[in-house]
Amino acid sequence: MSIIVNHLSHIYNPGTVFEKEALSDVSFSVKEGEYIGILGHTGSGKSTLVAHLNALMKPTDGAVYFNGVDIASEGYDLKELRGKVGLVFQYPEHQLFEEDVFSDVCFGPSNLGLDPSEVELRAYNALKAVGIGDDQFYVSPFDLSGGEKRRVAIAGVLAMKPEILILDEPCAGLDPRGRDEILGIVDELHKEYEITIIIVSHSMDDLAEHAKRLLVMNEGRLVMDGTAREVFSCRQELEQIGLDVPSATAVLSDLRAAGLPVRDDLITIKEAEEEILRLFRR
Ligand code: ADP
Repeated sequence: MSIIVNHLSHIYNPGTVFEKEALSDVSFSVKEGEYIGILGHTGSGKSTLVAHLNALMKPTDGAVYFNGVDIASEGYDLKELRGKVGLVFQYPEHQLFEEDVFSDVCFGPSNLGLDPSEVELRAYNALKAVGIGDDQFYVSPFDLSGGEKRRVAIAGVLAMKPEILILDEPCAGLDPRGRDEILGIVDELHKEYEITIIIVSHSMDDLAEHAKRLLVMNEGRLVMDGTAREVFSCRQELEQIGLDVPSATAVLSDLRAAGLPVRDDLITIKEAEEEILRLFRR
């Protein structure tokens, strides 16, 4: 699996008074097995970018290649692409509509024209993977909690057996427990099921804890692309575009500024905890 985004630009409503360049000359590639976070202010182009990755939007300029083929080329099999590149929208539970949970999760794979027994097996496995038990298979999705609904919606995409899963703000509007559940599931899908992950998030703490590589968007441009540690070591550059560093990094750099000999290139809570304990032990 590989995705190459090559000089991608997107203009909404070209030639009208509402014309807006949402993406401007964005290039990067995604390799199999990566866990990538995309961050940036509201309006920086994150949603527009991910919508291009499974051809929900067409580039105004540039191209997106999936396994080496331009997905906007004539005759490209978009149905197959959308099975392989799974996109979980913001508030995906708004799109649940079937009578029961199991039927909802079957909807995507049955549209792929698979055998009914294969569809059911996929739905079963997808629901298990997101931690929905058999006792909830035949209840109405509307009777579930917010976090459960979202997990069912994610299962609907997983049942397509995607090679890459792209999640746009998957924790938006959830309480801390719901957030941890979703992020735990995404980590598990990455580790156990070896699915390549792209996650769009506003939370620097969540990205620091989970993503390995970060893409930073600002005003439609890709302004940073590096490991989470590299990106979060650029506090000034991030602050200039209105973004924070993770709270662990902020605490350590404040301690360092106050004269304490701590490293300030650490990004997770666990790393910060160990560093502070090390200081006390000295
Ligand atoms: P993000 O996901 O980072 O919040 P978006 O991709 O949603 O950013 O939006 C990027 C820019 O494109 C914003 O300025 C937004 O107002 C504009 N935009 C998004 N969707 C549309 C649309 N359907 N029509 C016109 N402009 C849009």
